[in-house]
Amino acid sequence: MTIEVQHIRKQFGQFTALDDVSLQFPDGQLTALLGPSGCGKTTLLRIIAGLEHPDAGSVLLDGHDASRRHVRERQVGFVFQHYALFKHMTVFENVAFGLRVKPRSERPSEAQIRQKVKQLLELVQLDWIADRYPPQLSGGQRQRIALARALAVEPRVLLLDEPFGALDAKVRKELRRWLRRLHDELHVTSIFVTHDQEEALEVADQVVLMNKGRVEQLGTPDQVYNQPASPFVYGFLGNVNLFHGRVHEGVLASGGVELEAPQHANVADAQAVGYVRPHDLEVERYTPDAEGIVVTLRRAHAIGPLAQLDLERQDNAELIEAVIPNERYGKLALKEGEKLVVRPRRMHVFVDEGSNI
Ligand code: ATP
Repeated sequence: MTIEVQHIRKQFGQFTALDDVSLQFPDGQLTALLGPSGCGKTTLLRIIAGLEHPDAGSVLLDGHDASRRHVRERQVGFVFQHYALFKHMTVFENVAFGLRVKPRSERPSEAQIRQKVKQLLELVQLDWIADRYPPQLSGGQRQRIALARALAVEPRVLLLDEPFGALDAKVRKELRRWLRRLHDELHVTSIFVTHDQEEALEVADQVVLMNKGRVEQLGTPDQVYNQPASPFVYGFLGNVNLFHGRVHEGVLASGGVELEAPQHANVADAQAVGYVRPHDLEVERYTPDAEGIVVTLRRAHAIGPLAQLDLERQDNAELIEAVIPNERYGKLALKEGEKLVVRPRRMHVFVDEGSNI
């Protein structure tokens, strides 16, 4: 099922939770709704589900206006962060629940229900705990059962609101890989709310970046990470160094250093900020004729495959973070307090936007 939202607005009193949001969710794809707390992700999800009504705009399911369709008719499955399973029912009965409460004319036979639940428990790889009760499960197992329960009624849309939010980092990582595999098997159009950028970039086919009730960007994980549409997106999707200065005919002058900014060849003397990811900085030992920004190494943190360097600019004392392979760090044999030169290998310059991150 394709989902489209058009010009959605939602106010809570004076507060605008969603401000003219238009988006498309292609059939069979997994979309992540990503953004800081309070940006409107859950509200948008609830509007798509039919649990909340927009003040303006429409939701189209397979091209048809869904505003008159009741939640039940929208064929939506939900999984929430704290999705309460029925404590007094076994895992098996929890998953069977949606099938048992169907109107008699649509209800499968007992044998069909048994078979369906068995299949679903196999799908989430928990068929071996069918007879347990929810308090006897781990958090990760509970979320998988919640997903099996949502899938039992064969929804055409699956909405997941921070489904792994309450779990620890390691379990979260396992479950997100698992969710991706499950999605590849089932191809249900799914929307997944998260405020964890790594989770969104790893799991989703497309990512929607939201900020203050508006859409900042929609794209593939690669597009939003490598071609961010705004300073907000750049800052939200990872660590970043900011080089403030002025751009003129394709060159950003920042603290006495000239950096190439070819995207802005036609700009004449405007205020600008260069955004550089820590791993896009070249780091060398200082020599008088080396080109780049002169810095002092304040601290190095070299555990695992990468070394993180905290560098202080000599011209304005601003901090720069660089990440280089640990192997190269070892070869350079750097010492704290040493003078170095850094040069951006890749930089994204936004003109006259200031910094809002
Ligand atoms: P989080 O990641 O913290 O869950 P979110 O992006 O999902 O945030 P929403 O839950 O959609 O954000 O809320 C968006 C804004 O609307 C918030 O500022 C919230 O306080 C406000 N809001 C949501 N529901 C209501 C409501 N029923 N009444 C009043 N304000 C609300």
